[in-house]
Amino acid sequence: MDSKRIKILIVVSLMVMEGFVWTITSPISAWSLGIIGGADGPEKIIISDKGTEDRNTQKDNEDLENPPKEDRPPGDEPAQTENEKTRKALIQEAKEKGLLILVNKQHTVDRNYKPEDLKEIRYYAPDRSASSRYMRAEAADAFHKLVEAAALENMELVMTTAYRSYDFQKTLFDNYVAKEGEEAANRYSAKPGQSEHQTGLSVDVTSASVGYQLTDKFGETKEGIWLAEHAHLFGFIIRFPEGKEAITGYLYEPWHIRYVGVEAATEIYEQGLTLEEYLDQQSE
Ligand SMILES: [Zn+2]
Repeated sequence: MDSKRIKILIVVSLMVMEGFVWTITSPISAWSLGIIGGADGPEKIIISDKGTEDRNTQKDNEDLENPPKEDRPPGDEPAQTENEKTRKALIQEAKEKGLLILVNKQHTVDRNYKPEDLKEIRYYAPDRSASSRYMRAEAADAFHKLVEAAALENMELVMTTAYRSYDFQKTLFDNYVAKEGEEAANRYSAKPGQSEHQTGLSVDVTSASVGYQLTDKFGETKEGIWLAEHAHLFGFIIRFPEGKEAITGYLYEPWHIRYVGVEAATEIYEQGLTLEEYLDQQSE
């Protein structure tokens, strides 16, 4: 390459570079922006704006969880009322179906009461009474869904006892009294007529990790923790929570769940209530 050609090359290069700088710094830079806009769409796509988009998306998520009142468009107010109506209607429906029945040491169930819609449970510990393998149909279906959801997370949950007749409860209680005396038996077992197992809405749940026993240790297993955190999604509550003995009349039972329907169960779970407290609140 001779020196003349090199000079020409340098001059041409300088011209190109100058042209480029002019394009970028020129006040009439719509040309270059136009190219960008044409290839990538509107200015929103430009990286600096994308940051704004991300922040907006994040804010939308936060807003969904906790909508600030002043940000709500006026049209949302009726929707809130609508939700409240739906909530009340669902609670009322649960009440009418008898799902919110209160059975405890103060509120007994009639000796002759037996639910008419008992349905057999599919998932059970094999060495327990087959006659206790039933729940009211809606509760049984919900229990099946709960067990199947746990199985998807590699956890095996089974029931030991669900429905118990008045006479079966009487036999159980009499046996406990014979073994440990009535005072002790009263703290962990219900007298006949005082057990919500007779309603067909309760079920005792356990897993292989505790040898299918009903023990406090179940509450510390991954299955027990999962149950406590997810039962409400299927309409169940941990009926005798830890530290609530004075209200429920029973010691902590991480294995005993009670069906009340999804709406009530979710409210009870979110507010950390017992069924007794929740029903008190409802009647106010
Ligand atoms: Zn139980």
